[in-house]
Amino acid sequence: MPAPKPLTQCDPPALDWSRPGTPAATNFGDIYFSFDGGLAETEAVFLKACGLPEGWQDRQRFVIGELGFGSGLNFLGAWRMWEATKAKNGRLHFLSVEKFPFDAAQLKQALSAWPELETYSAALIAQWPGRVKGFHRLHFGDVTLTLIHDDISKALDELEARVDAWFLDGFSPAKNPDMWSGEIMKKLAGLSAPGARLGTFTVAGSVRQALIEAGFDVEKKEGFGRKRHRLEARFPGERAPEEGIEPPTIIGAGIAGASLARSFKRRGVTPTIVHDPNHKAASHNAAALIKPRLDLQDRPESRFFLGSYLYALQAYCDHVVMEGVTHIPKTEAETERFKKLNIHAPLPIAHFDFDERENRLALGKSLVIEPKTILNNWLSDLSLTTDKPADDSLKILAAGFGLKALLKDRDIPLRFSRGQLTWAEAKISIPTTYGGYAIPLNEGVLLGATHQRLGDEDPFALKAEDDVENLEGFEKFTGQQAMPSSKISRASVRVTTADTLPLIDKIDENVWLFTGLGSRGFVFAPLLAEAIVSHICGDPLPISKKVWARFALRL
Ligand code: SAM
Repeated sequence: MPAPKPLTQCDPPALDWSRPGTPAATNFGDIYFSFDGGLAETEAVFLKACGLPEGWQDRQRFVIGELGFGSGLNFLGAWRMWEATKAKNGRLHFLSVEKFPFDAAQLKQALSAWPELETYSAALIAQWPGRVKGFHRLHFGDVTLTLIHDDISKALDELEARVDAWFLDGFSPAKNPDMWSGEIMKKLAGLSAPGARLGTFTVAGSVRQALIEAGFDVEKKEGFGRKRHRLEARFPGERAPEEGIEPPTIIGAGIAGASLARSFKRRGVTPTIVHDPNHKAASHNAAALIKPRLDLQDRPESRFFLGSYLYALQAYCDHVVMEGVTHIPKTEAETERFKKLNIHAPLPIAHFDFDERENRLALGKSLVIEPKTILNNWLSDLSLTTDKPADDSLKILAAGFGLKALLKDRDIPLRFSRGQLTWAEAKISIPTTYGGYAIPLNEGVLLGATHQRLGDEDPFALKAEDDVENLEGFEKFTGQQAMPSSKISRASVRVTTADTLPLIDKIDENVWLFTGLGSRGFVFAPLLAEAIVSHICGDPLPISKKVWARFALRL
């Protein structure tokens, strides 16, 4: 297998702003939306063509798939129509693929032409992931947006979804043939729900032919603006009635369980949580860090690391204790790695900026959060019980160290690693990492965390030598003194796997396993939980098929 390429951001669009309000792409020689009124075009060529809003009025969930996100105008137009016409308790899912994403400033500039959409565009810009490659999931109340930043053909291969309405909005087929090929139309057919509708502005013979060959029934309709015709198409079949979801039982009330609860609640499903109130959970430390894990190469999991980090920043945005973390490289090799990452730039500079002269990495958007507040918030209004769940209910095992006992009769290759935190007094104002970490909090500086493969000992018994290790690590890398504080240390257990990747899989008819989050539980859990819950509820997945396969049980 060839070595993967370096992980970089997506290529930028080549924008020409010389016609106010209508950006054009110089590399395609085409405009993003009609000169005759982009928003009116959205309504006529895409929404109306797909039978909307009537099509979603009797539906609890409706999925739109778009080819070419561009400035997001179609998304915002669909969202606005949804707000005015949605079904009670309904949810809209909008998926869109884009190979040349705008950055936040370009998006702002393009959308400033639509003052009537201002509240919608401001919300989109606030969560915008920039030109980061891969899958991104954004939530706006009952509207969910999944963006796939990739070439259309690869993106469709990686997508798991059942789409009710397609908006085909590439540049014109003559200028942008990759978006309209027979191969693409076959992939759309494979992702279509029975009875799916499709709308597009073009009536090019090759597009019509490709749609017909892929199994769509195609009809020419009167066009919008200066275009004489447009196309509507329909995929055969009748959509099956929607099924409700049986409320599941989640075993574990740490960040994995709480993230599952959050994703279920968003869909109107109320889970029961089984937990042991006396357990010293890894998720109950005084603080946690949300920082990106960065790969030099573009492997499926590398994109997941970026996507889960960006998703976590959004998930915790109401619970931030501090923003901005400094990282001190531990070794020469790490310095070299950061230099390369600065050049490849998989994330925008606001998130990752290595200063070679100072030998310091600025993680400007990384967060310190307080686990207790987040868990309380996400688990609020749920029944927490110590009772065993009924045998036939859907269960998700998300119990961290508790899994050791729960899975003792099964051959599941988990590793358990003990970690101890130490409270210190030290002069430091910015959260700093160096292999270990130092987080300045009101109660003192929290130093963490040691790593020991767990043997038969009591994992929660405190060790004096671990406190020494934490204090010495801090002094060695920061060059600052640290005094032990009177506040008592804390030990807990991480669950990891041999390849340090998480584990999500169905292990029995009614039983899911969600574990192996290691020391990155707070970063990985929200998006992985969203993936499991999306799968259970039949919603589009927020991670690629390749990532899903990588995280399945590895025996
Ligand atoms: N729907 C957009 C809006 O509301 O602003 C306008 C889309 S514009 C007409 C076409 C889009 O397709 C551009 O954003 C372009 O970058 C994207 N595109 C072109 N070739 C692509 C490819 N091979 N894969 C994915 N996206 C592509």
